Amino acid sequence: MRRLVAGTGWKMNNGIADSIRYAEELKARIASLDTSAIDIYVLPPFTSLAAAAQALAGSPVAVGGQNMHWEDAGSWTGEISAPMLLEAGCRYVELAHSERLRHFGETYELVRRKVDKAMSAGLTPIVCLGESAREKAEGRAGQVLAEQVLTSLGGQPDERVPEIILAYEPRWAIGAAEAASPAYIGERHRALRAVLRQRCGAGIAERTRIIYGGSVTPENARAILDIEDVDGLFVGRAAWRAEGFARIVERVADAAKMKTEDK
Ligand code: PEP
Repeated sequence: MRRLVAGTGWKMNNGIADSIRYAEELKARIASLDTSAIDIYVLPPFTSLAAAAQALAGSPVAVGGQNMHWEDAGSWTGEISAPMLLEAGCRYVELAHSERLRHFGETYELVRRKVDKAMSAGLTPIVCLGESAREKAEGRAGQVLAEQVLTSLGGQPDERVPEIILAYEPRWAIGAAEAASPAYIGERHRALRAVLRQRCGAGIAERTRIIYGGSVTPENARAILDIEDVDGLFVGRAAWRAEGFARIVERVADAAKMKTEDK
């Protein structure tokens, strides 16, 4: 069975003091929940990583970076490497967020290099995938997502694919008024798993987590978690306050419990 995931990316929010406050509040709010069956992460900005990791040490909440370079060190002004993330206490790294692709010219070819580096360094990559509104309107979502996932995973042997978290985040649903509909999310997640099945075989596809992100809230979380191929939630705005993320964590922990009882 796939472990469900609850994650949030803080984008360019929360300096050191705010990150520590968030971490302390989150720990207190989730202390009474049984989170043993789920994975939880927060992705603070780089300057807050070490402080957040220290504040969350010993808790069920892991920390990750929002981006990373594919080299370990060198003349790459403004960049951060995998060893630096590890030294700051990270376990995860987010790659290919749509804002990185849109504003900073990242491509899935570069993402593939970053995935390879993260995997060899011992970080868990969270690889974002998503079609634009236009690609959706043109009926190309399936093809675009297949290309993104196959390119990102191109350097990895099949048996390591389940160590990677895939985050389906339709670009038109990020920062929007509403999440994608459960029917549409189900269709896309099913199609992504079929792509994995074709590339890596049924066993690997069954073990690989595909989480959903894009205007998730505590209110719509349950309906999205009920979708068969959804293995967790990746949350932006609704989790920028600890209280909001704690509510999401609670929904994911409940969903994990229900899935275990169903088995
Ligand atoms: C995101 O930016 O990855 C995201 C999911 O944001 P939001 O939840 O605010 O749509």
